[in-house]
Amino acid sequence: VSKNAGKNRYSIFNEEMNVRQLRRMGLENDLRQSMDTNQLFIVYQPKWDSQHDRLVGMEALLRWRHPELGLVSPGEFIPIAEETGLIIPITYWMIGEVCEQNLNWQHELKVFVPVSVNMSARMFENPLFAGRVERIVRQSGLSAEYLELEITESIAMNSMEGTVEQLKHIQSLGMRVSLDDFGTGYSSLGRLDEMPVDIIKMDQIFVRKSDQSSKQAIVSTIIAIASNLELELVAEGVETAEQEAFLQSRGCYLMQGYYYGKPMTVEQMNEWLKEKVLHMPLAE
Ligand code: C2E
Ligand code: MG
Ligand code: MG
Ligand code: MG
Repeated sequence: VSKNAGKNRYSIFNEEMNVRQLRRMGLENDLRQSMDTNQLFIVYQPKWDSQHDRLVGMEALLRWRHPELGLVSPGEFIPIAEETGLIIPITYWMIGEVCEQNLNWQHELKVFVPVSVNMSARMFENPLFAGRVERIVRQSGLSAEYLELEITESIAMNSMEGTVEQLKHIQSLGMRVSLDDFGTGYSSLGRLDEMPVDIIKMDQIFVRKSDQSSKQAIVSTIIAIASNLELELVAEGVETAEQEAFLQSRGCYLMQGYYYGKPMTVEQMNEWLKEKVLHMPLAE
């Protein structure tokens, strides 16, 4: 009996694997068509200076509206885009779109803030990456200081041939580089000072668990590291006034999270900007 039960469990497991593999294969196929059929779009989430109550930036996040499945989460489709290499043309497309959209905000609403785009490790396989970004930005007419690139600790640390040079090239154009999800990767703190980054984004796990004293100690340490290395620090995933108050009490004021604004379509962001940013007295 136990032998049969084991066999059954095994075959059920196998069927689950098949369902998952089939969905994955389907998504992979569909993702290839998604760019040409306007299924991909970009949402923007505000970065907020909670000390001066003002907008300091936005992060561009990719969305995929699948014709049958509806919205597919980035957690599911980004890894597929990375494995297939589709993330490469998608990212270049995004950089161009973000530059154009940011220029629109500058011209139409007089909103001048940098917008960041997430980079996959795959981008750095191409030694011409930085030059290509430079060309896209220059052709758009956007001043480079209004574009930021977000990289992960593994990109920064795995020191793939040329990655550091490419990031320095990006910085030399006036773009800033931020280190995303900080504290969750396998980064070596001992080399953080050598990395071409300007901004640290503290991962949301520390914010979410900031009622735990052990996590509070880590938050304070990250804040001290950022301050000592003169890096800007942004806390990710801030959802409540309590979390904001805690972060402020430890000296972190730049925030990103649902508490300030969710990722929004361009139309939603336009409304949000008119309500939250343009009707406020100008800072200083
Ligand atoms: P990320 O770059 O760390 O982006 C932040 C994620 O946290 C976003 O999830 C955002 O919607 C979510 N978030 C922001 N504030 C809050 C909050 O207060 N509470 C909670 N629970 N979540 C919050 P999203 O858009 O689902 O993206 C997930 C990840 O997928 C991103 O993490 C990034 O690693 C990847 N991703 C998204 N768009 C792109 C892209 O265009 N290119 C690449 N390479 N990766 C992307
Ligand atoms: Mg990011
Ligand atoms: Mg992040
Ligand atoms: Mg993340």
